[in-house]
Amino acid sequence: MKSETKKCQNCQKDFIIEPDDFSFYEKIKVPPPTFCPECRFVRRLIWRNERFLYKRTCDLCKKNIIAMYDDKVSFPVYCPECYRSDNWEASKYGQDYNFSKPFFEQWQELFKKIPRLSLWQSSDCVKVDYANYVRLCKNVYLSFSILSGSENISFSSNVDNSKEVLDSYNITNSELIYQGIDTDKNYNSQYSYWSSNCINCNFIFDCNNCQDCFACVNLQNKKYCIWNKQYTKEEYENKIREFDMGSHKFIEKTIKEFRDFSLKFPKKYTRIINCVNSTGNNLRNCKNTKLSFNCYGTDNIKYCYRSVGIKDSIDVCHSWAELVYEHALAGSENSKNLKFIINGGSACHNLEYCDFCKSSAYLFGCIGLKNKQYCILNKQYTKEEYEELIPRIKQQMNDLPYIDKKGRVYKYGEFFPYELSPFGYNETVINDHFLLTEKEIIKQGYSYKEKIKNKYTITLKAKNIPDNIKNIDDSILNEVIECEKSGKAFKLTSFELQFYRKMNIPIPRLHPDERYKKRMKLRNPMKLWHRQCMCQQDNHNHQGRCPIEFETSYSPDRPEIVYCEKCYQKEVY
Ligand SMILES: [Zn+2]
Ligand SMILES: [Zn+2]
Ligand SMILES: [Zn+2]
Ligand SMILES: [Zn+2]
Repeated sequence: MKSETKKCQNCQKDFIIEPDDFSFYEKIKVPPPTFCPECRFVRRLIWRNERFLYKRTCDLCKKNIIAMYDDKVSFPVYCPECYRSDNWEASKYGQDYNFSKPFFEQWQELFKKIPRLSLWQSSDCVKVDYANYVRLCKNVYLSFSILSGSENISFSSNVDNSKEVLDSYNITNSELIYQGIDTDKNYNSQYSYWSSNCINCNFIFDCNNCQDCFACVNLQNKKYCIWNKQYTKEEYENKIREFDMGSHKFIEKTIKEFRDFSLKFPKKYTRIINCVNSTGNNLRNCKNTKLSFNCYGTDNIKYCYRSVGIKDSIDVCHSWAELVYEHALAGSENSKNLKFIINGGSACHNLEYCDFCKSSAYLFGCIGLKNKQYCILNKQYTKEEYEELIPRIKQQMNDLPYIDKKGRVYKYGEFFPYELSPFGYNETVINDHFLLTEKEIIKQGYSYKEKIKNKYTITLKAKNIPDNIKNIDDSILNEVIECEKSGKAFKLTSFELQFYRKMNIPIPRLHPDERYKKRMKLRNPMKLWHRQCMCQQDNHNHQGRCPIEFETSYSPDRPEIVYCEKCYQKEVY
């Protein structure tokens, strides 16, 4: 089989389907995609609203709740307790399959009736306020995608098995972290990027196994370094005492200086650790993992994002399953053979076009079912009826496809159409990865959600906050602070204030949303560019510029000096 170039139905750009991809599509019996990988990624994550939360009531117990849906959506919204209770049953909403209507139109009718979960919080969570997509965690506030035993997490996203983390992104196995991005096994660290196994280090970039370092780049197994310079223990301690980490002015100045300093060093083209035959960024212990991001322990996957331990899969976000194609959210742990899943549930197999189903098998187009087999659009069939109907439905999906407002055609083998998502593009996480303006969103046929502005009376302007944390007393907890950038109001929590005092961190001047936006900009984008190593060192084994090419998340117009693995290793070790 040869590779084939196709034109994407959505963006009209060419994309390539490789021979391996064709084998996968054949194996799981789906036609090759007609949307490019990036447009497929958008199509999945347009179903994930993490942080646009609304006040409303639970449609079952009538309590006041926080939800990712406003009160104008067509379906009932239940709080997690009601959603998990036996007080409602999804199979009661079953529909007959109508062969004279497109499948997605019928699926949408079902979708509009069935209750949905207000916030995705698993039953093992404790004290998770304003937290969405959280599992097995405790004391989580305004944070999203927090998993695996994490505790005391605020204003952060993508945190696994970590404790006391504030204002950070993509943190694993760490403790006492402030303003961290893409770090693993760090302890007591502020402003750490792309670093692992570091203790008591502030302002570090791509450091590993370092202790007591300040403002260092590309260091390995070092102690007592400042601006990459080696000091004795006593010298280090004396110098560090002069750095006023509790001062807002000092931090602002150091952030800028550290950025300029860091640009002088070569950057490794990607953050891939202990991987074989893999491309992407933020990969650890992966094999044959292609064009994927934030994946750990995966094998034989492509175009995947924030997935752990998955195998033999393409186009998967947020999953722990095996043999999966086009999976958007929420896990699907202990599951196998899944296609076109919005929210996955545990212990499922042989599901297609499903959302929020659990402990089930052989379901097609179902929503919210538990412990079921052989259902189509939530209606129960016998095994024989199901096996007879499924090929006819797939044929009908091809004969009578769903065509959206923009003329995009959805036959069998396409994920759910963009326009069926209940969220505006700007409410979903996809807007963090591929930021669009309101105009662009509308032009591309996605929906746009007008933001509701709450009115608060400001009691403290950011510029009037005392510069140093040591001059802040508890009365700040009563203040409504005005963000110095957006003008939005925000308050401090007592956990937050304690954390700032313990860690000697100045009070933030920005609203949590602005801090989040800033962090997203610092992180490398979820895109890869094919580039050549920029190394020109004559003591390496290449003459002139190193000829090695790679896929990197550093775009060619960025100021960083980007090296291949070999040249980087030679410079660093
Ligand atoms: Zn496209
Ligand atoms: Zn309720
Ligand atoms: Zn090189
Ligand atoms: Zn070189």
